[in-house]
Amino acid sequence: MKLEKSLELYSESSSLFPGGVSSPVRAFKSVEGSPLFIKKGDGYKIWDEDGNEFIDFCCSWGPLIHGHNAPFVTESVSKAIQNGMSFGAPSRLENELGKLIIQNIDHIDKIRFVSSGTEAVMSALRLARGHTKRDKVIKFEGCYHGHVDSMLVNAGSGLATFGISSSGGVPKSFAESTIVLPLNDKKAVMTAFEKHPNEISSIIIEPVPANNGLIIQQKEFLLFLKEISEKNGSLLIFDEVISGFRLGFGGAANHYGINPDIVTYGKIIGGGLPVGAYGSSNKIMSEISPDGNVYQAGTLSGNPIAMTAGIAQLKKCLTQGFYDVLQNKTIDFSNTINNHITKHNYNANVVFIGSIFWLSFSKDKIKCASDIDSKGMSIFGKLHQILLKKGIYFGPSGYEVGFISAAHDNAALSKAANEICSALDEVFSS
Ligand SMILES: *Cc1c(COP(=O)(O)O)cnc(C)c1O
Repeated sequence: MKLEKSLELYSESSSLFPGGVSSPVRAFKSVEGSPLFIKKGDGYKIWDEDGNEFIDFCCSWGPLIHGHNAPFVTESVSKAIQNGMSFGAPSRLENELGKLIIQNIDHIDKIRFVSSGTEAVMSALRLARGHTKRDKVIKFEGCYHGHVDSMLVNAGSGLATFGISSSGGVPKSFAESTIVLPLNDKKAVMTAFEKHPNEISSIIIEPVPANNGLIIQQKEFLLFLKEISEKNGSLLIFDEVISGFRLGFGGAANHYGINPDIVTYGKIIGGGLPVGAYGSSNKIMSEISPDGNVYQAGTLSGNPIAMTAGIAQLKKCLTQGFYDVLQNKTIDFSNTINNHITKHNYNANVVFIGSIFWLSFSKDKIKCASDIDSKGMSIFGKLHQILLKKGIYFGPSGYEVGFISAAHDNAALSKAANEICSALDEVFSS
């Protein structure tokens, strides 16, 4: 594999940006090799600056559910650009995307557009605090909610702990307002509510935790969160930045039949451009400025070009059978690899839901973040490098999930599955 141009650009970018990148995981720190500089994408393929071609399972970390360069998205965007880039005033396009979402998702009466998933989460937390007049928030170990100060908190394994920030620069008082609990642990949640009566504004969870492996939750646990938050006057926030419009149009909420009080979106909603959103009932959303006193704003919020990409993308998602096809492809792809793993008795397993999959280096069911054995990450680091040489691009971390887009056809998927099987043979024989 030729790497000269990527290496040259990486050397230059390292003098320009911390770690040479605009977002940390891109720096290839947890896999072998160094970052590839991507030049273009089309359908399920991407090409780097050296002309290497890859079947892409990163899909820009999830947004590209129709693959790269989907013609119906790029054509609408090219047309919209002719009218100017941004006005900082309301436009018809926001109404159109807003209606598309609200009319198809029952638990949202009103929505507000922002420019990233992080912003959506930050605003949802502020809204929950404003609504309940309480400060504390429960989050779960292993769930990622963007780089919001109060969410950059991990806990040691074991029982409920008050947050100690895992990032520099986060005020102690912010981290202290975050209660970090293990996933799938009802008792820990009950204890937190007993210890802090009338103090917890909200519970925030990725209903399908997909940022630290893929830790599928039992429906019963999610239902329990809905009940206990209601009983205690707290709000339940589903962070659907990954799962929204991915597990079906109505995301995990519809998949499990559980209506959260507030939902956040990002990734798919913008068709590859920077969009996030949060939504809730009329009553709760009436607290947002200028109707209410919870402030939230954005110079480029509801940007017409981004709205256009979102509309084109989401309209296509609403076509009959769209999600069934995507899910069936994912099932076949994952089963092919899992059959190979079983045959050779490798200590691995492809976990999947909807069109999201994750290669776990354990045969056991992963129920919470501490179940993940970090030894698997060095195996993944090797596997990642082998896969690149075979023309398969995964996100450069063993904790990251893969995505299957509508552009991935059966031929590409079966080729990729075979390459992944033979790469597994290599790492497990060494
Ligand atoms: C990606 C992600 C975020 C952050 O979104 P950005 O657009 O990267 O700010 C928040 N929550 C979840 C669940 C995510 O997957």
